[in-house]
Amino acid sequence: MKTPEVLIVGAGIAGPALAYWLSRNGYRPTLVEHARQLRSGGSAIVVKGPAIPVAERMGILPQLRELATRTRSLALLDPGGSRILRLPLTSERAPTIEVTRADLSEVLHRSTQTEAEFLFDDTVVALDQDEGGVDVTFRRSAPRRFDLVVGADGMHSAVRRLVFGPEGQFASDLGLYGATVPLESDVIEDPTEMTMLTVPNRMLVLHPSRVTPLAIFTFRPARPAPHDRKNTALHKRTVADAYADVRWRAPELVAAFLDHPAPFFDRLTTVRVPSWSRGRVVLLGDAAGATALLGDGSSMAMAGAYALADELAAHRGDHARAFAAYESRLRREVDPRQRRVGPLSRLLVPRTRPGLAVRNAVGRAVGRTSRIASRDAANP
Ligand SMILES: Cc1cc2nc3c(=O)[nH]c(=O)nc-3n(C[C@H](O)[C@H](O)[C@H](O)COP(=O)(O)OP(=O)(O)OC[C@H]3O[C@@H](n4cnc5c(N)ncnc54)[C@H](O)[C@@H]3O)c2cc1C
Repeated sequence: MKTPEVLIVGAGIAGPALAYWLSRNGYRPTLVEHARQLRSGGSAIVVKGPAIPVAERMGILPQLRELATRTRSLALLDPGGSRILRLPLTSERAPTIEVTRADLSEVLHRSTQTEAEFLFDDTVVALDQDEGGVDVTFRRSAPRRFDLVVGADGMHSAVRRLVFGPEGQFASDLGLYGATVPLESDVIEDPTEMTMLTVPNRMLVLHPSRVTPLAIFTFRPARPAPHDRKNTALHKRTVADAYADVRWRAPELVAAFLDHPAPFFDRLTTVRVPSWSRGRVVLLGDAAGATALLGDGSSMAMAGAYALADELAAHRGDHARAFAAYESRLRREVDPRQRRVGPLSRLLVPRTRPGLAVRNAVGRAVGRTSRIASRDAANP
């Protein structure tokens, strides 16, 4: 029997994780990635929950532990910059490994680079499917036919746009913007602590990460602002306006944002697609169900990759049943998270000072619970 060929669009987190599992299950994966090489960047992400057993089965846990950042706690600051509370970020009961997104992507890529074909600096421009396969037109490579196509091309997925419809149909805006900029390593005093200052409608985080610390701006604009993902000058103006009256280290961190040639800036949205597959094309990771703010998009991407490969192996030759089983399995994780995002965004970035007081009270309660949980874990 011919080895089924699968095209995976996007070599971020979900893409290489899926390639790893597909090649072990008797499929031939090809990844197409529009970047020229793996993306670098200091932005830290957390591997946790269902991604931990997946990483363990892939044998990459030791590498991830070696690359882990040293961040252990989060300090909440009042609007004047004074510390009001310190929360532990690690727990014996629920293991988490914080690494940079670039390190995770690199480790996943290395685990599959000999088995999968990688086409960098390319993308898909047309997907035309029939009963027997999908004809793929690439921007640079010659056209090819695949048995299946997976859209693992992130929040602004081209596969989703080509096969399911325009992004506006599926993305719902949380009313918040997220922006980040890498900083010089000497701006951080304590590499084990992340600091977060919150004033109504604006949050500013200083994250030590591993090599390059990061400033993270999360804010609700005072009035509806125009949005253009590619307009860096507009992003810079929007961040500078939003943080103009914020104290603490805001002036210095905004200056770093303004000085950077291409800082990250995007609207925070959740992606909800009513059905994750159409015929022989299926969505995975952020392309299928992104949840901003919860900090577990990478973990969902890895868990989804494992579930998809597993269901394809279990329903060999019947991709429709495999896709349906994958979707219902993963929605059990993704849907409840998506329902939490709206309320969480209002709690995390409150509109008013009383809202901020509520957020801090919740933080104190969480801090107490985690201390009790760690004490219980230490003395079972
Ligand atoms: C600022 C920020 C902070 C975050 N913090 C966290 C966190 O703390 N914890 C966490 O778990 N998650 C976090 N996330 C989310 C996390 O990065 C994503 O959920 C996760 O990377 C999703 O994996 P993915 O593989 O689905 O998509 P991505 O990692 O986005 O990968 C998609 C890949 O597809 C490529 N691509 C895009 N379009 C095309 C195209 N047309 N053709 C070919 N290739 C294409 C991209 O270059 C990329 O390599 C954060 C995200 C951002 C933006």
